[in-house]
Amino acid sequence: MTIHAHVVISYGQSNNPTKRQLESVLAERLAKLDGVTTLVVPNLYDLAPTSSTIQRLKTLPGDLIVLGWLYDRATHWILDRNGVLGKFGITELPIDEDDEEELDSSLDGDNEASADDMARVIDERPALDRTIYSLDLRKTPDVEVFVDEVERIVSIAAQSRPQPLLDWLQGEGTAEQMSRYLGEPETTDDATGRRWYPVIDFSRCTNCMECIDFCLFGVYGVNGADTILVEQADNCRKGCPACSRVCPENAIIFPQHKTPAIAGSPANAGGLKIDLSQLFGGSNAVTEAANERDEQLIMAGRDAVGMAVGIPKRQSGGRATDRDELDNLVDELDSLDL
Ligand code: SF4
Ligand code: SF4
Repeated sequence: MTIHAHVVISYGQSNNPTKRQLESVLAERLAKLDGVTTLVVPNLYDLAPTSSTIQRLKTLPGDLIVLGWLYDRATHWILDRNGVLGKFGITELPIDEDDEEELDSSLDGDNEASADDMARVIDERPALDRTIYSLDLRKTPDVEVFVDEVERIVSIAAQSRPQPLLDWLQGEGTAEQMSRYLGEPETTDDATGRRWYPVIDFSRCTNCMECIDFCLFGVYGVNGADTILVEQADNCRKGCPACSRVCPENAIIFPQHKTPAIAGSPANAGGLKIDLSQLFGGSNAVTEAANERDEQLIMAGRDAVGMAVGIPKRQSGGRATDRDELDNLVDELDSLDL
């Protein structure tokens, strides 16, 4: 028996019986496929980085195929935030109608997509030798669509690396220990409550720091290389998506938000440039974000600040030309030629 990839099924946040049924049937079917192991886990978004499930996922080598009730981008960057790293795998599930409508609306009007030549955080990372495929279970209730797609991905993995995971399986020890991975789904069981925090898509993020300036709840921080990160996730105010509207690259995802673009909908159309800002509130996005932030400040017993604090100048119509007092001070220091 050769293992080519690991399947992970992430439970939805609710106990909706229809969802539970699909998860359960899929787990049984996928575990029987040749070439994979199948692990059923709690909702990935709700898991703490220190949870046993995340620690387990970090030990799985080779390609991962993750099925859950979130947009593919959201699943991918949730895993990334938790140290489960891989290249973004392209899947072939059908595009649903909501995505198509959203894409159509984003293609209307001015086309102000971000410049393609800006450096992204992901460009600084070392190359990764495995792929993570994320499949959104909301696409269809048809089990066979997912089974077919998993089989397609496994065949690709098998061609690219004929026996990549056999050593890992043998390293587990006895045949009895090995057999627990084959033929039957395995379930991990971490207690989770519902969480709410931003997830950064580092394939879009330019590390501009506008989110850290805007957030007044201490959610964002930087790592040792001065790269933005979500440092205190649980400081985020439940239900509020404010900073996603001020990010100039639309790189901030709130996976459970009702607006698809904010929840991480793919929003790409075969290389066409899209005005993503339309999906985040258009020209009113910054005002909306400031209002949402004020609501949260007041609920937390603090004073509203309106547009007076941390409003990104790039979002207020002056992307390359606005100058503030800090710019003028830097110019003055330069002119002193110290
Ligand atoms: S505002 Fe957006 S692009 Fe800028 S650092 Fe934050 S996530 Fe990255
Ligand atoms: S939604 Fe609000 S509290 Fe949460 S990270 Fe963004 S600005 Fe901070």
